[in-house]
Amino acid sequence: MKTIYMDNNATAKVADEVLQAMLPYFSDFYGNPSSMHTFGGQVGRKIQQARGQVAQLLGAQPEEIVFTSCGTESDNAAIRSALAVQPDKRHIIISRVEHPAVRVLCDHLSREGYRVTQLPVDKGGILDLELLEKSLTPDTAVVSLMWGNNETGVIFPVEEAARLAHDRDVMFHTDAVQATGKIPINMKNNVIDMLSISGHKMHAPKGVGVLYVRRGTKFAPFLIGGHQEKGRRGGTENTPGIIGLGKACELAAQNLVEESTRVKRLRDKLEKELLTKIPQSRVNGDTENRLPNTTNISFEYVEGEAILLLMNELGICASSGSACTSGALQPSHVLRAMGVPFTMAHGSIRFSLSIYNTEEEVDFVIEKMPPIIERLREMSPFWNQEGQSCAVQ
Ligand code: PLP
Repeated sequence: MKTIYMDNNATAKVADEVLQAMLPYFSDFYGNPSSMHTFGGQVGRKIQQARGQVAQLLGAQPEEIVFTSCGTESDNAAIRSALAVQPDKRHIIISRVEHPAVRVLCDHLSREGYRVTQLPVDKGGILDLELLEKSLTPDTAVVSLMWGNNETGVIFPVEEAARLAHDRDVMFHTDAVQATGKIPINMKNNVIDMLSISGHKMHAPKGVGVLYVRRGTKFAPFLIGGHQEKGRRGGTENTPGIIGLGKACELAAQNLVEESTRVKRLRDKLEKELLTKIPQSRVNGDTENRLPNTTNISFEYVEGEAILLLMNELGICASSGSACTSGALQPSHVLRAMGVPFTMAHGSIRFSLSIYNTEEEVDFVIEKMPPIIERLREMSPFWNQEGQSCAVQ
């Protein structure tokens, strides 16, 4: 059975070109990039090349790129650094829909005595910038807002938010793990201080990430040890991973507009057809400002997990918007923050496409989804025999 992979916001295939670029650095060129000898030095130069490739995609300077192990490390390093360099400031602002790499870290920090404001979003998952402005205080050390949401794809106006923070002398970090490589990012056009990237969301391998740190930004390392990354991140570099990420950034920079237009067309076709063919379905999140590859669709009165199981039987991979917490299915914090009704939130499926999806795959999913939902609704106590929803008490 062929796998139809539409779960790219969870992780994405390593591009063939990326794998080929990495392979020699496992076997032939395994020197330590910090070594004095030529064997290590050539690896060091390749890391510098990768730094340049990442910088190019972001419109940044190579020395502003710090390699890390993942998006989670980058997020942790950014927020912890902002707090460490401003020890007299004890307030952090995030949104309610941040990834756990930011949200759970901030829960932890609040137990350490920091004050955390979680900005709400509206039913489209959109942030109120006026509320951000009102929440900034002289005690605010950092604002951390994601560029693109991993569940809905909704894009936050982070460049504007960064300007508001800067006007009040507050540092700004963005988690751009889902946005990088999917929408244009140019750090020359904004005042964002720090930005997180993860390799495995953009066709590089797992276990490598980047923290962009704007030149002149005060920074305290998260991993303390050797002098790697100019003392900003201790630890021997994940050489093949870094080289792979550099290559992935080069590919993304070359094809970004063309590929994201193609992926958006496929996503829009999938979304439109599913909404047309399946009654009582709707998109979660604003459809205007959205990553081109993501759609989060709720099918009312069915369980997301059950839908996923039936999709899985046909080789279709996606994610649901609910997770099992304490033995019960709970809608995700993102859908809850958006106030998605209970019966909708439970039946939500996230389709996240990539440059490797084809029109045939989209057509297959469009053909297979309606009978799956129909079959499950027939079993649902909340869906009567006439194919109508019954009110839930
Ligand atoms: N931030 C966002 C928005 C994500 O979607 C993810 C991963 O799903 C992360 C951070 C964490 O990235 P990593 O898996 O590289 O730690």
